[in-house]
Amino acid sequence: MTIEQQINQLRQELREHNYNYYTLDAPVISDYEFDMKLKELQKLEEEHPQFYDANSPTLRVGGQITKNFETVVHEHRMYSLDNSYSKEDLLDWEKRIKKLVDGEVNYTCELKYDGVSISLTYIDGELEKAVTRGDGIQGDNVTTNVKTINSVPLKLKGDFPAKFDIRGEIVLPYDGFAKMNQERIDAGEEPYANPRNTASGSLKLQDSSETAKRPLDCLLYSIQGDRLGILTQYDNLKKARAWGFKVPSESKLVNTIDEVLEYVAYWDKHRHDLPYETDGIVIKVNDLQQQEELGFTAKAPRWAMAYKFKAEQATTILNEITYQVGRTGAITPVANLQAVSLAGTTVKRASLHNADQIEKLDIREKDTVFVEKGGEIIPKIVGVDFQKRNEDSKPTQYIVECPECHSILIRKEGEAQHYCPNYEGCPPQIIGRIQHYISRKAMDIEGLGGETVALLVNEGLITNYADLYDLKKEEVIPLERMAEKSAENLVLGIEKSKEIPFERVLFALGIRYVGETVAKKLAKHYKTIDAIVAATEEELVNVDEIGIKIAQSVQEFFVSEENRILVDRLKEYGVQLEISAEKLANQTDTLKGQTFVVSGVFEKVSRTELKKLIEDNGGKVSSSISSKTSYIVAGDNMGPSKLEKATKLGVPIISEDEFLVKIV
Ligand code: AMP
Ligand code: ZN
Repeated sequence: MTIEQQINQLRQELREHNYNYYTLDAPVISDYEFDMKLKELQKLEEEHPQFYDANSPTLRVGGQITKNFETVVHEHRMYSLDNSYSKEDLLDWEKRIKKLVDGEVNYTCELKYDGVSISLTYIDGELEKAVTRGDGIQGDNVTTNVKTINSVPLKLKGDFPAKFDIRGEIVLPYDGFAKMNQERIDAGEEPYANPRNTASGSLKLQDSSETAKRPLDCLLYSIQGDRLGILTQYDNLKKARAWGFKVPSESKLVNTIDEVLEYVAYWDKHRHDLPYETDGIVIKVNDLQQQEELGFTAKAPRWAMAYKFKAEQATTILNEITYQVGRTGAITPVANLQAVSLAGTTVKRASLHNADQIEKLDIREKDTVFVEKGGEIIPKIVGVDFQKRNEDSKPTQYIVECPECHSILIRKEGEAQHYCPNYEGCPPQIIGRIQHYISRKAMDIEGLGGETVALLVNEGLITNYADLYDLKKEEVIPLERMAEKSAENLVLGIEKSKEIPFERVLFALGIRYVGETVAKKLAKHYKTIDAIVAATEEELVNVDEIGIKIAQSVQEFFVSEENRILVDRLKEYGVQLEISAEKLANQTDTLKGQTFVVSGVFEKVSRTELKKLIEDNGGKVSSSISSKTSYIVAGDNMGPSKLEKATKLGVPIISEDEFLVKIV
């Protein structure tokens, strides 16, 4: 076989596996095998650049930079949709349609996914360009970023037409969104507000390898083009599926508005079980000939109608706006509400995000506000009932001083958040850093909780995490509610934390943007804290997955004399500031390419130890079951929903013993 044939064969294989995995959710090879093939292709392509292909599967990982997103005029205008909210609205719509077309009218019902609309152009079965909706007439060319989305086919299958556009929605699934946010919170960053905006922002990142890291998905719903030989919308969907696109299977062909309403009622109830956010359904006249006769208004097609689910909303009074200071000094405004029931829970607080948000919605204390629960966990204020506003009400003045230490707040260019710059002296920052240090994912200090940390700081016993190691039992006992036994446990717990491995210590230090994953990467790469301190910005950026923001933050941290002293003290106390020789010796590749989910309670090892064993042996630990999961290691009391999901996906469930046999 020639090199070119070899390259083409690999591309073809990878394309097929990619499709099985991301579009059909039914992989036939392991992640590891996939990665190996991809690496092989990358190597061949690098060595033989003459066989470059703009749609090679290697482009999924990104790397290209877009400085400015070019404006592109849509060949077929991207319309909006008219909205309806009741049965009457729909019956009126049906009447208007029946006046304009002859014969029977059928409808397709589709879910209305709440993401970013996108138009993809394919020429001879290859992705030519991807353009955002923009104003409907022209949008931004975001092709390089869209190419990194795994469910967007770069080359099509089957009997596709020579040229067409296809419309769809780029979405960020809830679980991927939650995971991204957890990592941000752990790294001391502000979480993203909702999946939709995050998806939208992801398309406009300049570095496509950053987009590649976001778990985006692309769902398609309509084909545009001339003489495609397709007669109905429903067939449109079927065809798109056959050409390799991800087309949601929830769409349904119906004959009457009553059936439409049944579909609405069903999904209004079950939409929370879907992996993505939806905000309604879209009803389309099925016959494309009839669609053509109906045409468009200035804004929207006459042959389609959105039916919006009622957002779960409530009104209540905003009693007070308070401000929280996080461990990184970030200020978060919080709305304290008169308790109100919303979507089955009682809501007392809502996030206000930042000063801009308050100004934009003109939110003031004592206002009557609308509270909504969307994709995000914390409810948000979506507006103010201005009619109910008191006459003497004045616009909210955002605080200028830290509510805790009275330092003047700063706001960096391009950032939405205000910060308290008093790193060394602001109590919630001091306490927050120590609380982060002792937290479960960091040093996991038994016998010491967040409240005790606050107490220790307020009593002047500690001012940083290194001070913990100097604490004596006798000093702790006089504290409120501290029995001798508890004081002993506390000191013991602190002592035991000296065994916590380097990667977790690195995370515990609380360097901004260094979350669990980044800490692991850095620890694995540099092996000692001294090597990290010595690394230049360029060197740091060259480490897999370390971007400029992280590199700068790491450097900033160690530039501080105070931080270097802290780290030196930790070293003296015997805290692990390098990968242990034993660990280096214990690491194997036995489980490489395998992903495990751990569930239940175990006898021989703790959950944490079990996870460590998996990772030390090259495996991955994941918290949720998917078709990617290789095994579930189940102890006693495995969760019933996990069991059900595992059975459904056919993921093998193994016991603790069966697992331990694997790694000997
Ligand atoms: P709106 O933004 O409220 O005017 O709604 C129109 C948008 O709904 C379109 O631009 C699409 O991005 C989006 N949409 C989501 N799902 C569908 C679907 N199944 N069919 C058509 N449009 C959809
Ligand atoms: Zn402060």
